[in-house]
Amino acid sequence: MNTAKETIGWRCARRNVNCKAVIHTLKTTGEFSRWNGVFHYHTVDPNEARKREILGTIKKRVLDEHIPVKIIVEQEYRKANLSTEEKRIIPLPSKIESELHKTRRRALPPVPRDQKFVVPPVYLETYSKEPFLIYDKRKSQYGGRLMIFASPEQLDVLFHSDILFADGTFRVSPILFEQLYILLGMQHGEGV
Ligand SMILES: [Zn+2]
Repeated sequence: MNTAKETIGWRCARRNVNCKAVIHTLKTTGEFSRWNGVFHYHTVDPNEARKREILGTIKKRVLDEHIPVKIIVEQEYRKANLSTEEKRIIPLPSKIESELHKTRRRALPPVPRDQKFVVPPVYLETYSKEPFLIYDKRKSQYGGRLMIFASPEQLDVLFHSDILFADGTFRVSPILFEQLYILLGMQHGEGV
């Protein structure tokens, strides 16, 4: 039986000290399968492990969520409730934010060059998986492509408003588009 294909090899993450400890776990159950017999070359550093865990969580959230990087870092650092010792080795938010911005930018689709672009799925729905792009057509009478974005909840507010506000702006329209047109409805005395 060829066990190589049925297991996953895990090498120690401490590459900086060239640690060669490797274990294998079963792909099916995740259970321990075997160990290469090499002991770790270094002592266990719980602070280092904690740091990796926190930074790993932050990186994952930066890719999955679209709230500002700064807020994610602040939230995770606060949640971690760091000890004095841990604070000493955890990088300052300002030290990791620019790299996280780069990580997020690399994961985003490239900026379209003309109006014929395909909208990536992430922009078609809201976070609660409701439709967000509700109209998307190119017609000569529009002079190009018309895209309408609204969640069901926003439409509900709009349809139940006695007063509607409309605002068309050319100044802040996205590149490749002529105009950005916004419809607002009133809810609890506020325009939303
Ligand atoms: Zn190791």
